[in-house]
Amino acid sequence: MFIKRRKTRQIRVGSVPIGGGAPIVVQSMTTPDTADVKATVEQIHQLEHAGCEIARVTVNTPEAAKALPAIKKQTTIPIIADIHFDHRLALRAAEVVDCVRINPGNIGAWWKVEEVVKAVRERNIPLRIGVNGGSLERELLAKYGYPTSEALAESALNAVHALEDIGFTNMKVSLKASDVHLMVDAYRLFALQSDYPLHLGVTEAGTLLTGSVKSAIGIGMLLADGIGDTIRVSLAADPVEEVKVGFEILKTLELRHRGVNVIACPTCGRVEIDVVKLANEIEKRLGHVRVPLTVSVLGCVVNGIGEGKEADIGIAGGEGHGILFKEGKLVRKVKSEELMETLLAEIEIMAKEREAASSGNGNNGREGQPETTSPKTAPAQSTSAKKDIPIIRKV
Ligand code: SF4
Repeated sequence: MFIKRRKTRQIRVGSVPIGGGAPIVVQSMTTPDTADVKATVEQIHQLEHAGCEIARVTVNTPEAAKALPAIKKQTTIPIIADIHFDHRLALRAAEVVDCVRINPGNIGAWWKVEEVVKAVRERNIPLRIGVNGGSLERELLAKYGYPTSEALAESALNAVHALEDIGFTNMKVSLKASDVHLMVDAYRLFALQSDYPLHLGVTEAGTLLTGSVKSAIGIGMLLADGIGDTIRVSLAADPVEEVKVGFEILKTLELRHRGVNVIACPTCGRVEIDVVKLANEIEKRLGHVRVPLTVSVLGCVVNGIGEGKEADIGIAGGEGHGILFKEGKLVRKVKSEELMETLLAEIEIMAKEREAASSGNGNNGREGQPETTSPKTAPAQSTSAKKDIPIIRKV
């Protein structure tokens, strides 16, 4: 698969570059009350361990704003403050965090936005303009009747143009909705008219299963178009799952290569080993592995030997044992009861070897990144060209 990524401007959220050919960044959002420093810090550490590269925290009360310095001090990944309604909280957050997200639909009068811009400028941090289908400006709802993709795109473009008019360009944009068609069309419309980096997400996507499917389709459709510089999978689940699903989307599209990629057969009447348990346990216990490794778990030798050879390491079931493969070569037979621990230990060893080799190459153990290519579906254009928004499809 070859995806030509849309060329966007680059901004930085703390140490993490976004857009302009940088790797697509996986974000998540914390769930404890932000005023609870201990719980928030603990969750940010869990998110980071799972691969999360930027954490967003809600700043909805003065107590939450007050907690930010302590949270920043105890964490290493960049923090984005999520602000709705009260621009004064954005002003306090801007003194501490690495990026401030505001929603133009609910922040209020323009002078309030200007104050926030002044605050982020002073620290040279970016803004995220986060438009949401559920909180569009009244005028746009009156104009379009209900939240359409055109209304979302117009809201975002209006905010971008207004910020450009006061000389501010250090921003990224999101146009989220819970309806996948609506969200996809809104991002496409915006991308046709602006080259600011885009943060993708299907908002309020649902539970672990339904939310992952919706997000994989919505975010995946856009990524396949080359649109998107950072993503968040919104789930009614542990946010660690959001990070895992985010990376799986990027890995499936071959946009990022990180950690263990498990190939497991669906099993059938021929199965000789507990494929389901093995595959789940590998994913669960090896989430800390950063270097890309393909691991195959196949129930029998019918396809197992051939397919197992394609993986970096793998196991194929036999009668009372499993056959261990490494880099296409049969290594040894392992008793069924020792399969799990043997495979996990072998993967850890291989991961360490690859990490060491990667560090030797100057990659510091980081996963490989595909090159950014020229725009495909949405050529970069100056947003100063305030054209009418073209309609792709009415939702
Ligand atoms: S690998 Fe073997 S057990 Fe797994 S689905 Fe194929 S035939 Fe069935």
